[in-house]
Amino acid sequence: MSANCIFCKIAAGKFGGPPVYQDEDVTAFRDINPQAPRHLLLIPNKHIASVSEASADDQALLGKLMLTAAQIAKQEGIDDNGYRLVINSGAHGGQTVFHLHVHILGGRKMTWPPG
Ligand code: AMP
Repeated sequence: MSANCIFCKIAAGKFGGPPVYQDEDVTAFRDINPQAPRHLLLIPNKHIASVSEASADDQALLGKLMLTAAQIAKQEGIDDNGYRLVINSGAHGGQTVFHLHVHILGGRKMTWPPG
């Protein structure tokens, strides 16, 4: 856990409501400022600042994030019509919270390219 990291606090149950999903490795919760009818964030419980900071030791954890995102999309009922997974990294990527997170967005048709 990293001091002053809001997502570490959410994963530890010290901030926010009950998570949508949690196990020993990952936590999912609803985005506070949703950009789609369904907008969740999925994070590793371990503090990793961004995907650029992940190491080879995190390979299984990164795979688990992808598989869990798909599972949550199913649980949220957005897998039939499709959904978008987004990982912003760094300033040009639009990252604002420096604890790795996967955005799970669905419930509307997405456009491309992103802004
Ligand atoms: P990013 O810009 O990719 O770093 O995304 C950060 C996301 O975290 C944004 O979509 C915010 O709305 C969301 N966010 C920030 N603080 C919270 C919070 N306390 N609970 C839920 N979502 C949050």
